[in-house]
Amino acid sequence: MEKRQLVIFTDLDGTFLGHHDYSHAKLDPVLPVIRDLKIPLVYCSSKTRAEMEKLREETGNHHPFIVENGGAVFWPSGYFPQAEGNNEKRDGYHLLELGIPRVKLLQELNRIRTVLGAPIRSFADMTAWDLAESSGLSVEAARLAREREYDEPFEIMTQDSSIHARVAEQIARTGLNCTRGGRYWHILGNNDKGKACRFLMEMFRMLYPSMITAGFGDSANDLPMLQAVDLPILVKRGDGTYDPQIRNSLSGVILAEGVGPEGWARAVQPLLSRFGRPKL
Ligand SMILES: [Mg+2]
Repeated sequence: MEKRQLVIFTDLDGTFLGHHDYSHAKLDPVLPVIRDLKIPLVYCSSKTRAEMEKLREETGNHHPFIVENGGAVFWPSGYFPQAEGNNEKRDGYHLLELGIPRVKLLQELNRIRTVLGAPIRSFADMTAWDLAESSGLSVEAARLAREREYDEPFEIMTQDSSIHARVAEQIARTGLNCTRGGRYWHILGNNDKGKACRFLMEMFRMLYPSMITAGFGDSANDLPMLQAVDLPILVKRGDGTYDPQIRNSLSGVILAEGVGPEGWARAVQPLLSRFGRPKL
């Protein structure tokens, strides 16, 4: 067993949570083990703070978390004593904002929609009921998903890949970024999951000078996070395949045997055996 402290970063939708049912039931047996071993488990998702707070409560997670594709990093007051006072505080958290305000993203998306005449529908165009139908979330969960600040998910309502490419090109021209999750496109600022992870890693390194990091993901928007960690792990998507972009571009990626949380549960076992030393 190694003495390095393991820190785990994980995507949520399609990775930690099932793609269709958004359930973490398959991980419920392993989460208490991770908690007992005092391994920090950092949620890093395109989800909003409101969604993540609910999940943290459900899963008894008290660790830092990364919202809206790296738009902001939150950590509970007192978690990193060395960083107290240096960052903005909000509602009992310290906070670092890396994204740009959603209102600017919506302005650009509207402009692109007009310029291209592209059939774009973003969360701002959907009621909670529309979003529940589109995503499979409950209406209540869809309400939390709409409370966005730094990242706007959208659909392009055509299979025409040349239109997809033109939308992506227009976004790039504005100096903004776009990425794809398991279900939606996202328009965002110059932030990504990897930058947010790297910031938190520096904070963790002050607690654990000898640290090893693992990351779990399933889709293209996880690539920057998987590039940032020591042990990148790719779970299978809902259709049983691996994301080709990540599989082909990330050497050393560990392919988890299983879809979403099933793959997660299997792939975490060797990590717990190897690095799961209880803190002295
Ligand atoms: Mg995902």
